[in-house]
Amino acid sequence: MKVRVGINGYGTIGKRTATAINMQDDMEVVGVTKTKPTYEAVAANDLGLPLYVPDESADSFKKAGIKIAGTIKDMYKKADIVVDCTPGSVAEAYKKEYADAGIKGIFQGGEDHSLTGISFNASANYKESWGAQFSRVVSCNTTGLIRTLYPVDKYFKIQSAFATLIRRSADPSDSKNGPINAVEPVLKIPTHHGPDVQSIMPWINIQTMAVKVPTTLMHLHTVTVKLGTEATTEDIVALWKKTPRVKLVSGKSGIKSSAQIMELARDLGRPRGDMYEIVVWEDGTKVVGDTLYFYQAVHQESDVIPEIVDCIRSMCRMEEDPLVSMEKTDKAMGI
Ligand code: NAD
Repeated sequence: MKVRVGINGYGTIGKRTATAINMQDDMEVVGVTKTKPTYEAVAANDLGLPLYVPDESADSFKKAGIKIAGTIKDMYKKADIVVDCTPGSVAEAYKKEYADAGIKGIFQGGEDHSLTGISFNASANYKESWGAQFSRVVSCNTTGLIRTLYPVDKYFKIQSAFATLIRRSADPSDSKNGPINAVEPVLKIPTHHGPDVQSIMPWINIQTMAVKVPTTLMHLHTVTVKLGTEATTEDIVALWKKTPRVKLVSGKSGIKSSAQIMELARDLGRPRGDMYEIVVWEDGTKVVGDTLYFYQAVHQESDVIPEIVDCIRSMCRMEEDPLVSMEKTDKAMGI
C-alpha cells in the first residue's frame, strides 16, 4: 500500500513536493491545502489534487467556485504524514495538530532545528529520521552546502570551511520582495546558515556570510575549505562526479551564470524548469596547497524536493538504505 501524504501549504515548495511525490510508486498525495482561493487553488483543482482549506475559509472558496474536499483537519484523517510547506510562524501550532491527529510531520528549513530536534539530509543523516514522528528538511542553502561538503569531509577531512552566500532576493513568482536595485549584506555574522549545516554535521567548523542581490533565479555560493588530508583539484572533481545530486558544469561549455543553468533545466524538460542538483563549476574549482576553492549554484525552489521524498521514506520506515531511496527518488524524478 502506498504511503498517504498530505501537503499543508501549496506554494513554491508545496506544489513541487506534490509533483515529486506523485512521480513515486510507493507514496501518493491525498490532499493539498490553500488558505485563499487563488490561481494556485484553481490549478490544484485542475490537476485533480484534493483541496483542503481552513474551516473559516470554506465559504470564500465556495463563492469563488473552487471545489474543496474538506477542511485541513479532514485531510489529516486521510494522511499518514503531512509535509508542512507553510511559511514561518505557523508551524508550532500545526505540529500540535499533527500530533493530536496521530500523524507524522515534515517541516521545512524556514523553521528552527529546535522545532523537531532532528534535521534531514539524505546523504548525510538519513537514518536519524528513521521512524521519527517529526523531522525538518534543512533549507535550500544548507542543503547545497551539505551536498558538496559532506563527501569532501568524509574523504579529505575538513579543518574549516567558509562560504559567502550570494542570495536571490525573491522567488520568480514573488513580486513583493526586493531589493530590485541594491546589494544588501546580512549584517549578523555568521549568518544562520553555518549553524544550520551544524544541525546535520555538528563536528564541522564552518562560518558563513550572505549578501542579497537583485535576481530571482538561483543562489550562488563561493566556498573556501581548508583540507585535513592531501587532495588535488582532480580528486575533488572526481569525488563530486560520483556524488548523487551534485552536477558538474563548465564555463567553457557556455554555462557562465545562473541564467544558463536555468536554461539547461528547461532544455532537460524538468518539471517547472527545476534544477534539483547542486551545480558546481568544474573549471571554477581549484585546490591550492591545503585549500579548496569553488563556486556552486543552488536552485532554491527545487533542490530540497528530492530530500523531502527521501525524508518520507526514512520517517515511514519504507527503505532502510539511503542510497537505494535516493536512487529510487532520482530515477522517478528524472535526475
Ligand atoms: P510560499 O509562500 O511560496 O508558500 C507557502 C504556502 O503556505 C502558500 O501556499 C500559502 O498560501 C500557505 N499558507 C500560508 N499560511 C498558511 C496557514 N496558516 N496554513 C496553511 N497554509 C498556509 O512559501 P515557500 O517558499 O514554499 O516556503 C515554505 C517553507 O519552505 C518555508 O519554511 C521556507 O523557508 C522553506 N523553503 C523555501 C524555499 C524557497 O526558496 N522558496 C527553499 C527551501 C525551503
